Amino acid sequence: MALPALMKILLTGLLAACSASIAAPLPPDNRVPGGIAVIPLPEYLSENVSVRFNDMDVPVMTTGRERVAVVGIPLSSKAGEQLLELREASASDSLPFRVESKSYPEQHITLKTQEHVNPSPEQLARYEREAAEQNAVYRRFTPGAKEWPVFSLPGRGPFSSPFGLKRFFNGEPRNPHAGLDIALPEGAPALAPADAVVAGTGDYFFNGRTVMLDHGNGIISMLCHLSRISVVPGQTLKRGERIGLVGQTGRATGPHLHWTVSINNARIDPLLLAPTP
Ligand SMILES: [Zn+2]
Repeated sequence: MALPALMKILLTGLLAACSASIAAPLPPDNRVPGGIAVIPLPEYLSENVSVRFNDMDVPVMTTGRERVAVVGIPLSSKAGEQLLELREASASDSLPFRVESKSYPEQHITLKTQEHVNPSPEQLARYEREAAEQNAVYRRFTPGAKEWPVFSLPGRGPFSSPFGLKRFFNGEPRNPHAGLDIALPEGAPALAPADAVVAGTGDYFFNGRTVMLDHGNGIISMLCHLSRISVVPGQTLKRGERIGLVGQTGRATGPHLHWTVSINNARIDPLLLAPTP
């Protein structure tokens, strides 16, 4: 074979290998509220086994010859034994696993706009409609690749508020911080943290201008407080593509990018997925 022809074959093969979707190693097994349980499945289970936790489908990934369930553990989870449900056409079983306790630190935030601390009944009704809209996205399960997706941070800046903080607004306790805040200047690009389909966009009372991304297999991202949204629902995105610009819309004390990750409708620590610089 002539050398140029051989080179062409090698090069074509190499390019094909590069353009195929890259699989990331599985996330670390971290069985705490807001963490992830990586649970190998017994070999006897069929390909069609349905794996569920808290009545939600769980992503099942393949690594080599092994199949593993990657289970998101809600922040509200109690420490102790939990059950992974396994259902096949003819039988059902469950796999117990233990969740350890974890106490997250407290954060006290002062807000100048009192309406974001104590919303009016109308604002609360609006919030409830918007939460229902967002929860519908969190409950989506789009079957996808059996390899764990590669994640990277949606913006490069210092972390201003970690995941899991028990929050107090003007001294009053509120829901824990279900995402990671990255401090970025107004107008900085906000990027897709992994390959995704845009699952929804909105302009919400607390979250401001928001983009929700479906990474497949019940893995969902939400990016909030944007000044501008530059994607539309249904659009397909590659990791690192721009979804909008950083801002401080909604309940924010300054420009930053809030990133939530949810697996099987459980919000988990995004830093378990994305390598930190
Ligand atoms: Zn936040």
